[in-house]
Amino acid sequence: MAATERLTDKLKSRGIRMTPQRAIILAAIEQVPGHITAEEIFENVQRVNSYINLATVYRTLDLLRELDLVTEADMGTGAMHYALRTHGTHHHAICRTCGRSIEFSDDLLESLTRELRARYRFIADANHTVIFGWCEGCLIDSPPAAP
Ligand SMILES: [Zn+2]
Ligand SMILES: [Zn+2]
Repeated sequence: MAATERLTDKLKSRGIRMTPQRAIILAAIEQVPGHITAEEIFENVQRVNSYINLATVYRTLDLLRELDLVTEADMGTGAMHYALRTHGTHHHAICRTCGRSIEFSDDLLESLTRELRARYRFIADANHTVIFGWCEGCLIDSPPAAP
């Protein structure tokens, strides 16, 4: 898979040693088009090599995050979701009641990140943002207290 080569190449080009375990974990991450949790990665790599433990998965994810190759997002499920940077810039509006995720495009956040920079000299890491709220269907069933 071309994507696998890219990720391993990116690590190698930064002087990171490529172990067989690490290569299997990277391949598992790249097989997923969207997000994946550490537990899901662990399940996938276990099918390939049962000697790989969860701690190794977490260490690899930490490394990828330090290298800015993955983003971490709390999708409200209790486990962090990881996505490759190549997943593309988009954001999620997630319903607190039913868990539905509405993907929205970056132009909606543009003015916010621009103003944060202009007013507060703050550079937002808004490559993959999650906003929680309530979807239309759940609002009809049980409206939340007025904000
Ligand atoms: Zn996403
Ligand atoms: Zn809902």
